[in-house]
Amino acid sequence: MELKSFIREIPDFPKPGINFKDITPLLKSPAALQATFDQLAAPFRDQKIDFVAGTESRGFMFGVGVAQALGVGFIPIRKKGKLPAEVFSETYELEYGTDCLEIHKDAIEKDQKVLLVDDLLATGGTMKATAKLVEACGGQVVSCAFLIELSFLGGKEALGDYSIHTLISY
Ligand code: AMP
Repeated sequence: MELKSFIREIPDFPKPGINFKDITPLLKSPAALQATFDQLAAPFRDQKIDFVAGTESRGFMFGVGVAQALGVGFIPIRKKGKLPAEVFSETYELEYGTDCLEIHKDAIEKDQKVLLVDDLLATGGTMKATAKLVEACGGQVVSCAFLIELSFLGGKEALGDYSIHTLISY
């Protein structure tokens, strides 16, 4: 199945110059959604993954599906102030300003193997912060899996030694 045909491009959203990749047509198709979960999970079926972690909010939509496909649980990485128990926090740079992500301190046990999932790799800042949070808990990042990669933004290079798995590239 050609997953790219389920991605709608919206020029100049949320501001001029950004070509927004809208995943809502893919979310509406049961076949495309199932194929996305299966293809994101495929390389990791024999890797003894303990958990999938996904970043608020589109990382939740795909992360939970990948976790189900692998038969493992899901760990949410949330925007600041949303998680109720003790957290580790990671602040990272955006194009303008900063953002902050958090994980529950007790989400992962030492050396558990975690697969990170998000919808889209742009500059890599969001995923790098996510990886740091998983490692702060003692987890091992197995790989970072994305539905979409914007390869011209250098996210792969920003993620350095982390392996990445992507289904659609622009
Ligand atoms: P980054 O931290 O730069 O890799 O940005 C990744 C996050 O920003 C992803 O979680 C995406 O949801 C969102 N994002 C960045 N650029 C786009 C785009 N062109 N279309 C849709 N979402 C985007």
